[in-house]
Amino acid sequence: MPILNFDVKTNRHLIMATLAEIKARVYKFGNKTADGNSKMKNLLGGKGANLAEMSSIGIPVPPGFTITTEVCTEYNELGKEIVINAITEEVESSMETIENTMGAKFGDKENPLLISVRSGARVSMPGMMDTVLNLGLNDKVVLGLAKKTKNERFAWDSYRRFIQMYGGVVLGMKPKTKEDIDPFEEIMEHLKDKRNIQLDTDFTVQDLKDLVYDFKDAVKKQTGHDFPTNPWDQLWGAVMAVFDSWNGNRAIYYRKMHGYPADWGTAVNVQAMVYGNMGENSGTGVCFTRDAGTGENVFNGEYLINAQGEDVVAGVRTPQQITKLGSQRWAELAKVEEADRAENYPSLEELMPSIYKELDEYQKKLEKHYSDMQDMEFTMQNGKLWILQTRNGKRTGAAMVKIAIDLLKEGAIDEKEALLRIEPNKLEELLHPVFDTNALKRAHVIAQGLPASPGAATGKLVFFADEADKYKYTILTRIETSPEDLEGMNIAKGILTARGGMTSHAAVVARGMGKCCVSGAGALKIDYKNRILRVDGKVYHEGDWISLNGSTGNIIEGKVATMEPELSGEFGEIMELTNKYATMQVRTNADTPKDAKIARNFGAQGIGLTRTEHMFFQVDRIRAMREMILADTIKGRKHALEDLLPMQRSDFEGIFEAMQGLPVTVRLLDPPLHEFVPHQLATQRELADDMHISLSAVKNKVAELEEFNPMLGHRGCRLGNTYPEITEMQTRAIIEAALNLKEKGIEAKPEIMVPLIGTVNEFIEQEKIIRSTANQVFKERNDTIEYLVGTMIEIPRAALMADKIAEHADFFSFGTNDLTQMAFGYSRDDAGKFLQVYLEKGILTVDPFEVLDQEGVGQLVIMGTERGRSTKPDLKVGICGEHGGEPSSVEFCYKTGMNYVSCSPFRVPIARLASAQAAIKDMA
Ligand code: PEP
Ligand code: MG
Repeated sequence: MPILNFDVKTNRHLIMATLAEIKARVYKFGNKTADGNSKMKNLLGGKGANLAEMSSIGIPVPPGFTITTEVCTEYNELGKEIVINAITEEVESSMETIENTMGAKFGDKENPLLISVRSGARVSMPGMMDTVLNLGLNDKVVLGLAKKTKNERFAWDSYRRFIQMYGGVVLGMKPKTKEDIDPFEEIMEHLKDKRNIQLDTDFTVQDLKDLVYDFKDAVKKQTGHDFPTNPWDQLWGAVMAVFDSWNGNRAIYYRKMHGYPADWGTAVNVQAMVYGNMGENSGTGVCFTRDAGTGENVFNGEYLINAQGEDVVAGVRTPQQITKLGSQRWAELAKVEEADRAENYPSLEELMPSIYKELDEYQKKLEKHYSDMQDMEFTMQNGKLWILQTRNGKRTGAAMVKIAIDLLKEGAIDEKEALLRIEPNKLEELLHPVFDTNALKRAHVIAQGLPASPGAATGKLVFFADEADKYKYTILTRIETSPEDLEGMNIAKGILTARGGMTSHAAVVARGMGKCCVSGAGALKIDYKNRILRVDGKVYHEGDWISLNGSTGNIIEGKVATMEPELSGEFGEIMELTNKYATMQVRTNADTPKDAKIARNFGAQGIGLTRTEHMFFQVDRIRAMREMILADTIKGRKHALEDLLPMQRSDFEGIFEAMQGLPVTVRLLDPPLHEFVPHQLATQRELADDMHISLSAVKNKVAELEEFNPMLGHRGCRLGNTYPEITEMQTRAIIEAALNLKEKGIEAKPEIMVPLIGTVNEFIEQEKIIRSTANQVFKERNDTIEYLVGTMIEIPRAALMADKIAEHADFFSFGTNDLTQMAFGYSRDDAGKFLQVYLEKGILTVDPFEVLDQEGVGQLVIMGTERGRSTKPDLKVGICGEHGGEPSSVEFCYKTGMNYVSCSPFRVPIARLASAQAAIKDMA
């Protein structure tokens, strides 16, 4: 569209001439034909394109026309008058076509046609722009409508709704601030008070007439003009208001949030109104071509006779089932006898067989056309069926998987399409316990946190990890968790924290355990001393029931019933298919043989990260670990490490055995040492007694380990470089474990990983210790195994120096939790305090600890990979930060050329699917 780049007023004639010769601006649809089709979303908007498509394949949509998005842009640049001039002829002729199809006339006093005017941008922007319904009414037309429909009440109610909507949308009579009252609502409230009635439906016909009169009066008072009586004036006003709404605050905000450009513009859809509330021969309903809950291939839905669309949704009247089968299933659940059902709640199939037959034909046609389950809305007006809308139906995770596999088997889609139909994150619903949907309907949500680890959990409130077994089912509720809480976290059914983000300790550990967790719920006020939780002034005590939805972050009062998910056969079939297409592997982050086995069952192709520190928190180990930390001399440390060695070795044996034949990346000790020492007086005293030292010695050591910024302090390879004996012990445990298994005929493939390096020398120092220890063990055992020594890339400097590091390292694994922390400068442990606000204000669109920040942190990942491979072209590269299980980040890793992603066990299927999808998209 050539946009004219000069003064509009002085060049008016030229503009008009140019506009006159440009292509069509108005596209008709209806009467089973259309000028446009579904591919024309940019020009006709999503809604307009879909209406055109439906009409052109022979679906009876109420006839109408679409004014293109280009006209919106012209309107913004050239103004109202020029645009109206340019489209009047096309609009008038299109209106005539609608009139012919509907057998009614716009503005006619005897046989009126009413229309709707709706916005429709190329992408759906729900609720962002404006709509006007029932347009074309005035004082005379309303009488004709009443006569034609033999329903005076309906006619006047439509009229008052029209003035109200038109007043708000077109005449600017919406409340300006949240304290202001809608002027029309105010009038209605006033009348209700006067008449002492509660509901809109209690108004009499005379009341509705009075409302119309008062509404018009209010319009005159507020705008200084009479309410427009000419239907054409009404139409132009509404069309221009829809164009204006593209530049309204709501739409601008939404566009900015999603990055949609302002010059897209919106289309305007003008369509004949059809009514389901014109008597016993009219009705309205919603239907699905398959079951959206289970995926079962049965046509289903609900309808109401003599009702409008919103009546079905509002739930005031109980809708009836569309099919006889559905109706009988409903009756069984509702304990309604067959005779009663057939008499009082018949299906549409029984009540209006010919309309049902027609509807059934269209649902089949639409599903076939779109090759997907459709969610349709329909209206019957005086015995004539109209399809108002169809779209790909929303569905549960289970239905999503079943429908994709069924469509594949039916030959409607191919394997690649079946895989692309699965939303990776929705698979999660299939993997964790879920709330019973009926129980959830009655749930009272008391607060919202971050959906840190999915699933559903219900239990009694406990505030201390060592009391997690106080009741049979507990929810461990903490301000934040620390490694000391590990055992309690394992016992509790769910974990709730007031602080911490998506990669806080609680979140990471819970995801690893596959345990439901809601973190960073700032509204919780936890009082450890009194063992109470305060939310919004309400107090919950230890032992009170509480439920968590780890998939939404909802915190729910009381006990909500849960159920175990069923892993259906179709789930396995989808997973099989991923193997056929995925080229990038999926490993798991697992610290125990149990987790390793779960992940392997889900199809993990190795372990990408074993956090060895997690093994030290079990009761029998923490003591030796603390002894090691409290030791003042190398000798003392070595002594304690000797105690730890057999425990580590047997842990590694368990993990290697579970992953037999697959690579296992074991990371050397990473967290700051203060995490291992007790901070509570009672446990400090216990430790002092245990070690035969004074309480003050313990206290002094704990104080000594205190750091201002532990995340940037004495941790990672800095531990192994200051206390090489730790690296020695861990290497020995790994190599001895592998050799022990070799003796039993089990193949172990260890990959030893050095954490948190920033300089190449940090790595070289550690590698030296690892290799010399391994050689020493080989000599002692007179046997060898293959192993690799690589490093995490999780400090920005390491990414920058990757070419030098790759001269020494066998592999890289991106630790994007720390890399995000350090690239953004957001502390992983404290970011929860401001991230929520950042997200609400749109400063950030997503939590970067959850979704990899591809344009920023991603640059470091790309650079690290490219530089590493510039030295070592076949360098093995993976990721083990939490992003390794997040679908969009997995796609990014694929594009970066990684060999694998690694994620917590329960995310393995999701990552496998995302990996296959990335490869399929790449083939296109
Ligand atoms: C990381 O930093 O991304 C990582 C995997 O290590 P951790 O989360 O244990 O620091
Ligand atoms: Mg890290």
